[in-house]
Amino acid sequence: MPHSVIEKPAERSVAAYDVEALRRDFPILNREVHGKPLVYLDNAATSQTPQQVIEVFSDYYSRYNANIHRGLHTLADEATAAFEATRHRVKAFLNAEDARQIIFTRGTTEAINLVAQSWGRSQLSAGDEVLISMLEHHSNIVPWQLLAAERGFTIKVIPVDAHGALDMQAYRELLSERTKLVAVNHVSNALGTINPVKEMAALAHQHGALILVDGAQATPHQQVDVQSIDADFYAFSGHKVYGPTGVGVLYGKQALLEAMPPWQGGGEMIKTVSFDVGTTFAGIPHKFEAGTPAIAEVIALGRALEWMEGVGVEAIGAWEAVLLKHATQAVSGIEGLRILGTAPHKAGVLSFVVEGAHSQDIGLLIDQLGVAIRTGHHCAQPLLHHFGVEATCRASFAAYNTLDEVDTFVAALNRVIGMVR
Ligand code: PLP
Repeated sequence: MPHSVIEKPAERSVAAYDVEALRRDFPILNREVHGKPLVYLDNAATSQTPQQVIEVFSDYYSRYNANIHRGLHTLADEATAAFEATRHRVKAFLNAEDARQIIFTRGTTEAINLVAQSWGRSQLSAGDEVLISMLEHHSNIVPWQLLAAERGFTIKVIPVDAHGALDMQAYRELLSERTKLVAVNHVSNALGTINPVKEMAALAHQHGALILVDGAQATPHQQVDVQSIDADFYAFSGHKVYGPTGVGVLYGKQALLEAMPPWQGGGEMIKTVSFDVGTTFAGIPHKFEAGTPAIAEVIALGRALEWMEGVGVEAIGAWEAVLLKHATQAVSGIEGLRILGTAPHKAGVLSFVVEGAHSQDIGLLIDQLGVAIRTGHHCAQPLLHHFGVEATCRASFAAYNTLDEVDTFVAALNRVIGMVR
């Protein structure tokens, strides 16, 4: 039994947190891998999906599968209502001002590309600067590089300190009247660092720049309030918040979205189309949602957010902090193991390298023991190069992980290190 950390909880939400009960919502957690119970610690890549979300798909396809918005029949009405209900749920989840500020995309990557191709292409040119950080995922680097090659603006990089925290002094010094956009993640997927995005937004705004926050790794762990942050754009992905793949969200300030040109043309995003006088566009959000969207996925995302809110987003974050602390302490005793990312504010991500052992070997062998972690560059190659490594091992935690699973992981890691050294 149990770990003292549960007996003396730092927060009431942790004391009341019934991890065993909520695990029952996840059928996949019952499976075995190589004859061992699955210990799934690759949640920063994709979190698992509760039964309530899985059921949305069979319910949708067996009862009301229809294309949305343009039908007059009952099925189309039901599908449209369920789809739009998610927009309202996401509005509340992010505390957006208006549901029309919620645009459905395929994920965070597509949301950032939307901003780059619509806002960026129309607003950025030679002489302008876009600030990104050393902590960015490739999806918040490459869209800006692609556009910079075309539009001639400059990308500048906010450095990190030895703990993997952003160097805020350097950020202040990089900001100038040339800065048009700051594009930064809320939480780093590779290190778990939580960035002070509210403070960063205020500083960006003082210089007349906008801020885009990549919230892919923040939304699973903490209550996000886009109005309090004063984010101009905020993006996240469904599959990291217990929802399905293929769906994500872009939030934008209303005036910005309204002024931005469409980035993809097609059905649903138009008001009128004519060969003679051209095309006029729909208002937001439809202007940015060309073509048939991932209808069932959007509805399932709504169900996933409902599931998270049922557990309590803050309670999930508090529980993951307990798991992270326990795991950090447990691996700290392993000889030759170095944790990358020791910033004071961290989400449930533990990234490490082990002297004399290739991360890839650790990942493959630990999988044989039923433990799923991620190894590689985590789509953050510049950051890893900055720390002088090509790859790390990354264990990342979610609502359903247990302290026993952390112990299983650490025991398996010790075994594997003994094998490869
Ligand atoms: N940004 C961050 C911080 C991420 O961790 C990820 C995915 O790992 C992404 C963006 C890209 O998300 P998606 O692949 O769902 O578009």
